[in-house]
Amino acid sequence: MKKMIKTDAEWQQLLDHKQFMVTRRKMTEPPYSNEFALSEKAGLYSCVCCNEPLFDSSCKIEIKTGWPSFFIPASPNAVREEADENHPEQGIAVICNCCDAHLGHLFEDGPAPSGLRYSINSLALSFEEREENAVQQSQAAQAVDAAQVGEVKGWQPAESAEKEGGCGGGSCGCN
Ligand SMILES: [Zn+2]
Repeated sequence: MKKMIKTDAEWQQLLDHKQFMVTRRKMTEPPYSNEFALSEKAGLYSCVCCNEPLFDSSCKIEIKTGWPSFFIPASPNAVREEADENHPEQGIAVICNCCDAHLGHLFEDGPAPSGLRYSINSLALSFEEREENAVQQSQAAQAVDAAQVGEVKGWQPAESAEKEGGCGGGSCGCN
């Protein structure tokens, strides 16, 4: 894979302050502060620094940790793992293989078949949406669907709220 190498000054020109602090200073954004944690849109998540494709929405885990999570990268060489010396309690850091951006952390409590959970900062990602019917799920994603891993969406629309309190308009004479 080609490497993208820039100085901090160059990255600061390309990124906003929060993106810079996460990707080049290994900060972690607050949970649920972010854009992609609960997104169910179909598409491709790329590195906000170098635009290399990193994770596909078909490999997103519906887990409510507050960060977007994936069980496998878009390609085997897209990311690499490193011990996070600054935050050893946070476990293994996930790094963009192209530009060395800090993306998030890797945990070993993900669903089958990988058993992995890549917990990624939204600020480290850019997203390109695609049409839902153009989705071609990876074999891994299909396997997970088959195993019914993850939370089943059971949202039911509420009964249409009954109108209370009369007309409220003041013109019909009801009190
Ligand atoms: Zn990158």
